[in-house]
Amino acid sequence: MRILSKRIDVRASLDKYKGMNIGFVPTMGALHEGHLSLVRASKENCDITVVSIFVNPTQFNNPDDLMRYPRNEARDREMLSNLLGDEDILFMPDEKEVYEGEIIPDVSLGNLDQVMEGKFRPGHFRGVVRVVKIFFDVVKPDMAFFGQKDFQQLTIIRAMASQTHPTTEIIGCPILREPNGLAMSSRNERLSKDIRQKASLIYETLRSHSAPAITDSIDSIKNSVISAIDSSGDFKAEYFEIVDDVELTSLMSVSEALPGRNYYGCIAVYAGGVRLIDNMQFSFPVTKG
Ligand code: AMP
Repeated sequence: MRILSKRIDVRASLDKYKGMNIGFVPTMGALHEGHLSLVRASKENCDITVVSIFVNPTQFNNPDDLMRYPRNEARDREMLSNLLGDEDILFMPDEKEVYEGEIIPDVSLGNLDQVMEGKFRPGHFRGVVRVVKIFFDVVKPDMAFFGQKDFQQLTIIRAMASQTHPTTEIIGCPILREPNGLAMSSRNERLSKDIRQKASLIYETLRSHSAPAITDSIDSIKNSVISAIDSSGDFKAEYFEIVDDVELTSLMSVSEALPGRNYYGCIAVYAGGVRLIDNMQFSFPVTKG
């Protein structure tokens, strides 16, 4: 794999591969199997794979979270060198290289960045859109791979790409979980061993609520999910919403669920100072799920 830090070098390398399929996997490093599953998907579907590692300051609404974000470049390089081939690229730019000369994109997100993560992390998705737009401009990928773990981000990237890079196909990849069900995340490294084990509660709670009965009300499902998390004492739910995967509109009643639409239960949970997110598809009596 070639490790490059300049946009111009990435572009020059890729220009040699005219007609080949370029796959792109953006990450913030501290890689785990979830990230590697995206890299594998790109390797399976594309001729050349570009992976980026960049801890993007503009998407952190909390400076403390940015400072404490795990970084492990040597280990990341080692993990990727086992997967990437000679022609593949690991792009590791610094902040100046990414943002110098940026024209902030005028992407319309409507309601998509106002709810859930957008509500509790104001400006987060504007930062994500800014950096992904810059990377897409450099890499011009045919396919870009994102995890369903960041469900709202995936929905927003689809909306962005349809406006700014309509020829890039956005591929959503399944959530990889630890053996106890906890969704893999770079932030899990900041959990104590005990809390990391107990965090299976998030997955179990989503799973046990994911097939509501026609007689359940959305409020009762929400209350039940939040009280299951909060009553443990170790965790505190920030929000739980059931939304569709196109407009991210919260479902207000079970009878509103439309056939042919996919609904996801989305949750953010504090485990001490560590903020975790997860989601799961919910199947309602009228949906195929
Ligand atoms: P991050 O480094 O956290 O920005 O994540 C980079 C990419 O990896 C994003 O598209 C994430 O959705 C994806 N990702 C993170 N965790 C997982 C996971 N557990 N399973 C699948 N994809 C993941």
